[in-house]
Amino acid sequence: MSHFESALSKYFPNSMPQDEFVRHSYEALQAQGFRAQNTIAFVSVCRDELTLPLVEDIKKTWGEAFIFSSLAGMLFLGKTGFLAAQHHAPNEEGRERHVYFAFPHIALDFQGQIGSSTRPGRLLSSQACGALHGFQKELASRTVNLCLDPDDLEQSLLKQHLFRKIPYGDVPDLLVLTKIAQIVILEELERMINLTVNQKQTDYAVLTGIQIHGPEEKDFIWPCEVYWVNTGNRKILSLHT
Ligand SMILES: [Zn+2]
Repeated sequence: MSHFESALSKYFPNSMPQDEFVRHSYEALQAQGFRAQNTIAFVSVCRDELTLPLVEDIKKTWGEAFIFSSLAGMLFLGKTGFLAAQHHAPNEEGRERHVYFAFPHIALDFQGQIGSSTRPGRLLSSQACGALHGFQKELASRTVNLCLDPDDLEQSLLKQHLFRKIPYGDVPDLLVLTKIAQIVILEELERMINLTVNQKQTDYAVLTGIQIHGPEEKDFIWPCEVYWVNTGNRKILSLHT
C-alpha cells in the first residue's frame, strides 16, 4: 500500500473514487425515482479550479447543475439564492426533485501529506483548501479577526461560521478544520432547505462529505451524510451497489 493509500484510508475511511461516487449516487437515486430529466442538481464546492472535475461529473450525470459555491464550499447564497435555484426545478406530475451536493476539499499528496497539492505548470506545491489553510494559519498565530470585512466577505463569513465550532483555545490542524467545515456546510445546507423547500411536493437528496485531491489529479470522495427525503421522511442512501 502506498503512503497515499494508507493516509487516505486512515483519515478518510470508505472514501471512493470521485467518478464512482457520482455514478453510484445517481444509480441509488434513480431507484428512488430521481433521473436527470426530472431532477435539478445543486452543487456547492470551493471556488478553487481543483474542484471542477467534480462539478463536470455531476453536470454530465444530471444534465445541468446550479452552482452554489463560495470559498471552501461554504453556502452563503442565502434564501434568495436557494429559492432562485429551486425555481429552475422541473415539475413532474406536480412533484419536484432536488439533489444537493456540498463538499469542502483537501489535498493529499503521494507521501500522504495533508493539504499539499501540486498544480499543473506550478513548480512549488500549494495548499488546498487555501481558504481553510489561511484561517488555520490565523488560528495558529493566536490573533483571529472575526469582523465582517466588506473587502473580504466570503473569508470573513467562513471564519465566523467555523470559529463557533472550535473549542475555546484549540488550534485545529487542516484535517480537523476541513472536517469541521464539512459539518458546518451540512448544517447550513439543512437549515436553508428547511427555510426554502416545500417538503410536501418535493423529494430531495443531500450528498455531503469531503472531496480529496490525490496524486496524479485523481480525486476521491469521503461520503459523510448521504440521504434522501420523501414527504418529510428521511432515508439513508446506500452507495455500495
Ligand atoms: Zn479551497
